[in-house]
Amino acid sequence: MTNVSVKALHQNTPLLRAAPGLFDHPEVWFKMDALQPSGSFKLRGVGRLVQQSAADGAKAIVCASGGNAGFAATHAAVALGLPVAIVLPLTSSAAVAERLAACGAEVLRHGAVWDEAHAFAVRLAAERGAAYVHPFDHPLLWAGHSTLVDEVVDAGIGFDAVVTAVGGGGLFCGIVEGLRRHGLGQVPVIAVETEGAASLHAALAAGEPVSLPAITSIATSLGARRVANEAFERARSHPTLAVQVSDAEATAACLRFAQAHRVLVEPACGAALAAVDRHARGFRRVLVEVCGGMGVSLELLRSWTEPATIKA
Ligand SMILES: *Cc1c(COP(=O)(O)O)cnc(C)c1O
Repeated sequence: MTNVSVKALHQNTPLLRAAPGLFDHPEVWFKMDALQPSGSFKLRGVGRLVQQSAADGAKAIVCASGGNAGFAATHAAVALGLPVAIVLPLTSSAAVAERLAACGAEVLRHGAVWDEAHAFAVRLAAERGAAYVHPFDHPLLWAGHSTLVDEVVDAGIGFDAVVTAVGGGGLFCGIVEGLRRHGLGQVPVIAVETEGAASLHAALAAGEPVSLPAITSIATSLGARRVANEAFERARSHPTLAVQVSDAEATAACLRFAQAHRVLVEPACGAALAAVDRHARGFRRVLVEVCGGMGVSLELLRSWTEPATIKA
């Protein structure tokens, strides 16, 4: 049944030292997953899940996500020659639908919100004999995401803290898994959410995963109303500092990062960048997972950071 020794669909991304002056912190390293062919780290886990599903006989791939999971599922399915259907809620933009279709996906629209699109997509997958790709809650996703830690360890960079954004917590689960595999279970993870999308913070405060009433952050890729149970468990069993930044801090960090490194990232990723100086001061060498994201453009970056001029 297992056939994961086949070549992975994601890239081994560069590990770059942060440009001088970008942070107050003297030594920060970036794992540049913004450079994955699907635009984000999601290809690591989704690629693994799609490969395994194909090996197990899936005839097609279905995913409910107008975000980076949808792009990763499309990339992985097309690479393996499988048909792929992406289900979007009715509210998602025509631009995203067109972009997914251009990448080779059949785009379907169903439901007012993600939960409805998700329920429809699960039924559709069962009808079609297709594998359903969840955006953040599956052990194979976490195993795939954990490869980013393997690559950093192979590069020989010792680090004493990892900074990552948290949405539904799949990336966080993968990072913890990778750290444990390499005997780094004591290295803390600074888990960053934006205010208005802080479902991990809410779960830790409540002592169990809880659903946020709404997502009010601009960082839509962090907008899971409830974290995966496993993310909550790993946050309690691994040294984890759950912190929040504002949307304004996240978008300002996107702009500074673009200017210093000439790479555009979503506010979801900007959140992790924004947390470095505020929350990682006490550590000697800080690793930041630059998770990336397709939902950014020069126009968006400008509108986030100069709202008064642009909205006029
Ligand atoms: C999905 C995503 C996240 C959050 O990942 P989770 O596994 O849901 O925690 C962060 N940043 C970007 C760009 C993403 O696409």
